[in-house]
Amino acid sequence: MERVCVAVRVRPHRSAENADGFQWKVDNNRISLQRSQDTPVPGISFPFDHVLDEKCSNGLAYELLAKEIIGAAVEGFNGTVFAYGQTSSGKTYTMNGSECDPGIIFLAVKDIFAKVEKTSDREFLIRVSYMEIYNEEINDLFTVGNQKLQIHESLERGVFVAGLREEIVNSPDKVLNLIKNGEANRHFGETNMNARSSRSHTIFRMVIESKAKDNVSCNISSSDDVVRISILNLVDLAGSERVAKTGAGGVRLKEGKHINKSLMMLANVINKLSEGGKQRGHIPYRDSKLTRILQPALGGNAKTSIICTVAPEEIHIEETKGTLQFASRAKKITNCVQVNEILTDAALLKRQKLEIEELRRKLQGSHAGILEQEILKLRNDMLKYELEKEKLATELEEERRLQKERNLCIKDQQLKTDDISNLEPPEFDEVSSRGCSRDDDDDDDVFKNASFKASPNAFVVKRSNYSMQPDRSPLSDTFGDFADEDTWMKMNKGYKADLNSLLFSSPERRVQSLPSQECSSENYLREIENIRSQLKKVTDERDEFEVRSLQSVFL
Ligand code: ADP
Ligand code: MG
Repeated sequence: MERVCVAVRVRPHRSAENADGFQWKVDNNRISLQRSQDTPVPGISFPFDHVLDEKCSNGLAYELLAKEIIGAAVEGFNGTVFAYGQTSSGKTYTMNGSECDPGIIFLAVKDIFAKVEKTSDREFLIRVSYMEIYNEEINDLFTVGNQKLQIHESLERGVFVAGLREEIVNSPDKVLNLIKNGEANRHFGETNMNARSSRSHTIFRMVIESKAKDNVSCNISSSDDVVRISILNLVDLAGSERVAKTGAGGVRLKEGKHINKSLMMLANVINKLSEGGKQRGHIPYRDSKLTRILQPALGGNAKTSIICTVAPEEIHIEETKGTLQFASRAKKITNCVQVNEILTDAALLKRQKLEIEELRRKLQGSHAGILEQEILKLRNDMLKYELEKEKLATELEEERRLQKERNLCIKDQQLKTDDISNLEPPEFDEVSSRGCSRDDDDDDDVFKNASFKASPNAFVVKRSNYSMQPDRSPLSDTFGDFADEDTWMKMNKGYKADLNSLLFSSPERRVQSLPSQECSSENYLREIENIRSQLKKVTDERDEFEVRSLQSVFL
């Protein structure tokens, strides 16, 4: 078992120091509140793994909080580093940095490639993706328009975001370029507290696969060797905020509600995890997209650092206390960390092996640079095919599910229509005694009358009954529209919303042999075509069902 590393980072003061007022004092790994010079406020003093004062650079923050996790990721351990704290406390600065003080993401990318270079006995395959969670929707930051992605889970891949673009990369510059382009697609907004406030949570993800190199000189092939796969998440959360201070209204207010809500869910998960042992019960990872994606980092198999950023100004004392309380709880979390060794075709490195070797043979004698470029291109093409196949397969699955529901709905509708047509029509006297006068041309029972086809309103009424079914949100109704930042503060203090009733536990990632599949571009294309035609068949069937559904209403 390994504890989560929790650090607090105090950003530089915005205004001239107020010597008479309250101040936060950093002393080694402890942060305490003081009333004027050296008069401690009792009970408000917290120890952490590290407390970084305002003079600390991103470089030092990286050395202390991320370097070890990055090194372990190259060796096959999952890792997560994330920044948590109120708006304008320095989360984005810590993760992204500035021109003269590069942040953790930049330093991590550089470090990973330097480590890969040094590890001469293994071959590596690194792919990256970049997503944001904005208003509880997942958007791909690498591809504009690739939005509202869904989270799925499979035995092979664990929890994953279906349809998210991944890019295979072979140099830090390539990664940093991709990130730069992705940043342009991120949601920012202006609030009173931060002119360019991040309005979304972003997750930059690197998947690192590696395998022992074949020893050509000794004629030893390691083709059956296990492949190590690790996932590294570098997360910049949107800041929690108090509406009164940010002055948010309209779109900003709506965003703020979503931000506070998902941070609450994160605090809820942390609070439950911090209980540890048997009292823990279910952990409500499924209550938000953020906690679902961070599930392995928070209660599973990942080395994790949480950097809690705080603002030193006196007006932010309440938020800072809240963040420190959150951090104290997070300190109690332990994870069970192990190297992910995979024997199956879940490793891309393995799936692409045959094709790459074929290309290598063909290009034997080519200039090393050309070979590298060709291999990278081929790898990315193959990955693109796979991702497209996966996306189509997910759509097909979803379409099938909807079709099943529609089928049930139609059956139900037919039963109801049968019931109605089996009913004895009431006597005329009975009708008039209820005050329903009717003339001969106006049949009351629209569902039995052919003229109903010309009666669109009745159809709308009938249909809207189906759409009145409750939304499938896993959250209880009381959480549907809460907005207030006070609940967020309560969460920081350890309040736990009981959202367990609708929990499901997620299966562990399976690590065992599966029959291998031969991969080739033609195979991919064939499979994609196959899924496409299945999808077309299912959507055609859906259209047909819709027509039948209309007919069953009209007849
Ligand atoms: P957040 O992401 O938490 O909302 P930012 O990282 O955007 O906050 O920081 C708000 C402002 O404070 C930015 O202008 C940023 O440059 C500055 N800032 C934050 N932390 C530091 C730091 N450690 N050193 C220098 N400037 C900082
Ligand atoms: Mg930010």
